Amino acid sequence: MPLRKMTHGSSCLQNRSNCSQIRYPINRLIIEEGIRNDPVVIKILKALPGLSPEYIKNEEIDFSCLNHDTLALCRNKGRFLKPCPGTKEYLCCLYQFLNIGLNCPIDCTYCILQVYLNTNALVVYVNYDDLLSELGSEIMKNPSIIRIGTGELTDSLALDPLTGISLVLIDFFSRQRQAYLELKTKSDHIGDIIDLDHQGQTIMSWSLNPQNVICNEEGLAASLNDRIKAARRCQERGYKTGFHFDPILLYKEWEADYESVIETLFRNVDFRFITWISMGCFRFIPELKPVIQKRFPKSLIVYEEFIPGLDKKMRYPQPVRINIYSKMALWIRKRWPDAFIYLCMESPEVWKASIGYAPDDNLTLKSWLDERCRIR
Ligand code: SF4
Repeated sequence: MPLRKMTHGSSCLQNRSNCSQIRYPINRLIIEEGIRNDPVVIKILKALPGLSPEYIKNEEIDFSCLNHDTLALCRNKGRFLKPCPGTKEYLCCLYQFLNIGLNCPIDCTYCILQVYLNTNALVVYVNYDDLLSELGSEIMKNPSIIRIGTGELTDSLALDPLTGISLVLIDFFSRQRQAYLELKTKSDHIGDIIDLDHQGQTIMSWSLNPQNVICNEEGLAASLNDRIKAARRCQERGYKTGFHFDPILLYKEWEADYESVIETLFRNVDFRFITWISMGCFRFIPELKPVIQKRFPKSLIVYEEFIPGLDKKMRYPQPVRINIYSKMALWIRKRWPDAFIYLCMESPEVWKASIGYAPDDNLTLKSWLDERCRIR
């Protein structure tokens, strides 16, 4: 079956983001009644002067009725930290997720959050003290290295100019020795964190895709050039960096486009400060397809050939994925011969056939990534 072209006529907005401001549409602000004097709430209110906040008791907020343009500030009454939900059928690096909020203003066509959460609103948890105290006690209990990321239920940095949470986290992790923070983003909001004394405990990471994909599928994300520029600035300030080709999308011009992204990346960043590069092909639970078709009728990403994986997610057939990863690895290793590459949610067979090695199990993969964190 011939592959489809990627471009479907969406307007491509270059320079859509700015490293110290957010430019996402927020038209309604809901605040949990009990936290109106919380310093984080006051800071956010100051940053959104045109909005009249609605104060509602927590138990009376009906999150399921809120729209994409609503920002809800509340306390998280549950746990902040949880293990990556990776499935047992595929290798998982045993990452921990720190949930700082729900949803993401970038609004990618392929985003799983569209069917994963019970609200469309941007939810920000403001009880940072509870978050830090849970984090501290979990790190203390853990005898080995622990890698923690905030990018599961939101983009790590997208709302940072409003919330300032990354600043708090980077400061907290700078005092740890066994715990590493990874901030994974498609934004370039590094204005508040660039000058922090991070002590090498934070890895700044970007998801990368060709500009063609960004224009058509990645909503209000920063352009490829702006992401790479932000990464370079972070490297110049001594941050470790990571890059994630995830999701890799298959379309007619994918080879030329992805090789060009790799070329641009290595022309602009120093591979000695790259902690890891990961790859993962587009995969989705079947319930996401009708949502993408309805919300993004011009997007063609769900019309390639897919087969259900062992975890029931739809994936490109295995030989196709192996071909993609092999070529990507070749292009990367041409520029960084000893590149540390890992695959996200793939079987050992796919690892071996495409990048030439595979960890024996999840714990081995964890130890590889832990070791990468230690390199200064
Ligand atoms: S940046 Fe990530 S979290 Fe945000 S919409 Fe895109 S896929 Fe979802």
